[in-house]
Amino acid sequence: MDIWIIYLIIICLSVVLWLFSFFSIWKTKRYATILFDLLPFYPLLAVVGYIAIITCTILWLDFLGWIFPLVFGMLIAILLVYLSIKWIKGYRLKVYVEFLDKLKDDKYSVKILSDYFVHKKINPEMVNVFIRHDIDLSLRRFSKMIEIEKEKGIKSTSMIRLHSEKYSFEKALPLIKQLNAEGYEIGYHYEVLAQTKGNKEQAIQLFTQELAELREIVPIAVVAAHGDKYKNRDIWSLLNQKELNVYSAYDMKRDMYLSDAGGYDFTRRYGHHLFEELDKAKKGDVVQILIHADWWF
Ligand SMILES: [Zn+2]
Repeated sequence: MDIWIIYLIIICLSVVLWLFSFFSIWKTKRYATILFDLLPFYPLLAVVGYIAIITCTILWLDFLGWIFPLVFGMLIAILLVYLSIKWIKGYRLKVYVEFLDKLKDDKYSVKILSDYFVHKKINPEMVNVFIRHDIDLSLRRFSKMIEIEKEKGIKSTSMIRLHSEKYSFEKALPLIKQLNAEGYEIGYHYEVLAQTKGNKEQAIQLFTQELAELREIVPIAVVAAHGDKYKNRDIWSLLNQKELNVYSAYDMKRDMYLSDAGGYDFTRRYGHHLFEELDKAKKGDVVQILIHADWWF
């Protein structure tokens, strides 16, 4: 085969790989949303992506003479250092530990969501912080974060799903019972519209039924909709909230909302940067912080 055809194939392949890698690294969250099973490995996938980019670029630019690979190699090295620093400061448990230490300061009062909705406990002299966990996929990762909170003596509210793709509700039972006994709050992370494929009447019925089932195990005062292709949150306004005696985490009149939803993404603030925002909170402010343990490693 003519050597030029081989070169052409290599170039085409490298361009495709380059585009794929670039897109994948830029939108790392895609790995998590489309390929749930790969979730624990997404940092690894990003590293594979970086290597692919470097390899492809060198192959590609080899045609243009040695000066181009040299210049591009240097640029990529700088980019890698920059990304590594971001990664270290990102969704790492160490960052969460530091954050909880910061919350121990006299400036902050950390509470559970029912303190706000049911007991109306707002301290005008402190920053009122409400940590909410949405337990979407990994019980193991969630348990790790809760263990850290226990060590630091900080309480939070955790929204449990009854139909997670990655854990069974039965398996979560001992954990939520134990958390409830220890003063941690459990909420209902509903997804009734997704279950009923958009049928609102059935969804309302299902909500009532599942809430009652959950209440046989632990008290439930607060709920939050799980994000899905069906907008589960749409069902909230159709429910008889008074009769059900339940509040939505989204109805909190908060001065600040910090969320890690969407996960690791270079175009947004995360990890360290997420918590740095808290410095802007003033006395008497109400701050809700949404954490998905799935993103933290
Ligand atoms: Zn969710």
